[in-house]
Amino acid sequence: MSTHRGGCHCGNLRLTLRLTQSPDRVRLRACGCSFCRANKTRTASDPNGAVEIWADNWDDVSDYRFGTATADFVICRRCGIYLGAKCETPEGTRMVVNTNCLEDRAAFSGAPAPTDHDGESVESRIARRAANWTPTVVHR
Ligand SMILES: [Zn+2]
Repeated sequence: MSTHRGGCHCGNLRLTLRLTQSPDRVRLRACGCSFCRANKTRTASDPNGAVEIWADNWDDVSDYRFGTATADFVICRRCGIYLGAKCETPEGTRMVVNTNCLEDRAAFSGAPAPTDHDGESVESRIARRAANWTPTVVHR
């Protein structure tokens, strides 16, 4: 397991990401949705890893939703940094993390693979996240 710490710019939001692969081997994704294209995200997930997330003040955290409104885009309202997307699935809370918010972001050196899930049904979307995204504990 490799452990990566990160958070937003102002320090309100903090997270740890545990991965079963070293960061240079993790498959990065450049999601093709309109939000991620605007933010140039590079996301990672690991169904056998773990995410924990904390905030000093959850009132300063936005859970932005759009499209099918099945994922919360976790954004700090104070500094605007995007941490990742969170989804409630039948298997529990799952998240993809924006590796740009990690302290060792440069270690994630793979080329992000473009992904596009437009046209996917809500059911298959949630099933895919339950299978592929990272089990998450939200401390709130
Ligand atoms: Zn912040």
